[in-house]
Amino acid sequence: MSWQSVRGHDSIVTMLRAAARAGRLAHAFLFVGPEGVGKRTLARVLARALLCETNREQDLDPCGECPGCLQAEAATHPDLLEFGRPADRSELPIQVIRDLCAEFGLKPARSRRKVAIVDDVDSMSDEAANAFLKTLEEPPPGAVLILIGTSAELQLDTIVSRCQVVRFRSLPDPLVADLLESQGVASDPADAARLSALGEGSLSRAIGLADPELERFRRALIDDLAADRGFDPSLQAQRFLAFVRQAGKESADHRRRAALLIGELGRLFRGVLWQTAGLEPPSPDAEDRRAASELAARLEPEDVFALMDRCLGAAYHLRRNLLLPVVLESLFHDLSRLLNGRARE
Ligand SMILES: [Zn+2]
Repeated sequence: MSWQSVRGHDSIVTMLRAAARAGRLAHAFLFVGPEGVGKRTLARVLARALLCETNREQDLDPCGECPGCLQAEAATHPDLLEFGRPADRSELPIQVIRDLCAEFGLKPARSRRKVAIVDDVDSMSDEAANAFLKTLEEPPPGAVLILIGTSAELQLDTIVSRCQVVRFRSLPDPLVADLLESQGVASDPADAARLSALGEGSLSRAIGLADPELERFRRALIDDLAADRGFDPSLQAQRFLAFVRQAGKESADHRRRAALLIGELGRLFRGVLWQTAGLEPPSPDAEDRRAASELAARLEPEDVFALMDRCLGAAYHLRRNLLLPVVLESLFHDLSRLLNGRARE
């Protein structure tokens, strides 16, 4: 894995390499930006570049062949530490941070330095963040810490002030389309263009939406919600739950699929808002636009805002690891009330 595997973030790579050439690379970074744009990939390439045993540090260019590069690639390098939130936890536990700080303080085993990548820092408790401050303030010589989150505003000021904040932007649609085609996810350019528009700048979101089974479920769900016959919220919640449970064995798989679909409902209601304002929604999907126009014809704008708000709330509760059946049951009851309540009154 080299800088070639990092796409769409040329200015960040240029900035890092210029800093390394000048001998001024930061000892702590906070990478922030949307999900699925390549923050983790860039962090891993940077880690490899820092652990490469052949090329000079100023070049910041992993050779890909030395033992340092190979061990980093295989995730077996003793000086590369990767930590994140365990799949079954809503927070990055303080114990994870304590373990990281303890290991980080040890002498490097084979490299000149230790490099740590800490993912999911959005979910770091204040207690865990505070346990981190001393290591951030005085890291061991040469050590580099890379924290990954979605927004600097979600982190404590004391963390942000000790890091160089690197902001990642959404990927441009043509780049996502190109990646979808080159990775064999999209079958043809039209499919790639549609998926990249649905992905809204996130490659992982576009890949998630490329699943034909998910597309079938998404279509049926949107059509059910848009139909003015109403729907049974408990039955809808059960169906949704059964479908997301097919995504894999781990609860993290279920949550990922649920978040993707709830994001799609949020997009539908945003489209409805465009329609109520007399505008054509920007959705690349003609069926979605039709569903949005049916809903716009019978909803009041304040209900549309409430629907969007309810989807954002459910997405937040998923990230906080609230029980999935509870999140869904409550979401569909509220959607049913907002979508069909006025008609029955
Ligand atoms: Zn190397």
